[in-house]
Amino acid sequence: MKLALVGIGKIAVDQHVPAIAASPDWEVGATVSRAGTLPGVEAFTDMARMLEKRPDIRVVSLCLPPVPRFAYAQAAIRAGRHVMLEKPPGASLSECHALEALARENRVSLYATWHSREAAMVRPARNWLSDKRVTRAHITWREDVRHWHPGQDWVFEPGGMGVFDPGINALSILTRILPAPVHLTRATLDVPGNRQTPIAAHLTLSGNVTAEFDWLQTGKQTWEIEVETPEGTLLLQDGGARLLIDGKERGADDEDDTLQGEYPRLYDNFARLVTRGGIDMDLSPLTHVADAFMLGERRAVAPFDW
Ligand code: NAP
Repeated sequence: MKLALVGIGKIAVDQHVPAIAASPDWEVGATVSRAGTLPGVEAFTDMARMLEKRPDIRVVSLCLPPVPRFAYAQAAIRAGRHVMLEKPPGASLSECHALEALARENRVSLYATWHSREAAMVRPARNWLSDKRVTRAHITWREDVRHWHPGQDWVFEPGGMGVFDPGINALSILTRILPAPVHLTRATLDVPGNRQTPIAAHLTLSGNVTAEFDWLQTGKQTWEIEVETPEGTLLLQDGGARLLIDGKERGADDEDDTLQGEYPRLYDNFARLVTRGGIDMDLSPLTHVADAFMLGERRAVAPFDW
């Protein structure tokens, strides 16, 4: 199936292009981007024009930041195209609900992707926890924004979500592996004096679940989730790539878990979704982020510059 790749920037080039190139299901038929292009692929700078000129392209994958993405998604769905959304699926919950309603009305597939859920050991972690009682869980998500998002000012603008841009990846894993839902009860948000979104956050959720997100971590980067149960302690490391139970490393439950990377799995999932029809729009990670912005206590911290 041919798709249009929209928003040719960091994640499109780093992950989407190689995943599509390796996929038996997909081919990039066109790009839409104000400046970015891909070699040998028809390039549009205007979404409406692509939708009009390329009726053969039935599917659109949107790699733009969340704030500008909504208008592109709306246009694609209204034009009867199936749509895949980078995470987070929108800059607000209302936007996501609006897109979902529009997709139902236009009978197209809509896929809110959560790439971290496709990390190799997330499914085994979910399986291990499925029949257990969680007594405590803690997320540690510490990375260096200057390394991972160099110069991307949109992350510090309203709707850019700040440290929740990576933090929502942790929340997407948490909401996938816990056997029962939790909800946010308290948060502190550290917002640089010259910016609009947090650079660090501490969250408290029901069920004795806590999270710390930090975007100023230089040196070793940490993406870990620890979950305690009466039967033992689960530790997901490296963003879900490694799983330890009581300190002992576990292998994948089934071979498929180690076969592919996160983005190839997303495109596999999307091919199946488009083929069978339907909507895959789990908003639980974004709900926790929205609640953190609603309930969070803001603390002004040192200004941030690249
Ligand atoms: P990015 O490189 O800053 O933006 C992607 C492209 O979107 C830009 O190159 C730009 O292309 C287009 N764009 C940006 N602002 C726009 C606007 N206002 N209107 C229209 N087009 C605009 O961002 P990214 O890092 O790829 O992130 C994009 C999405 O992927 C985010 O939701 C992010 O959370 C997610 N993601 C990123 C990473 C990562 O490591 N960076 C990892 C996983 C997921 P043109 O200038 O050519 O239009």
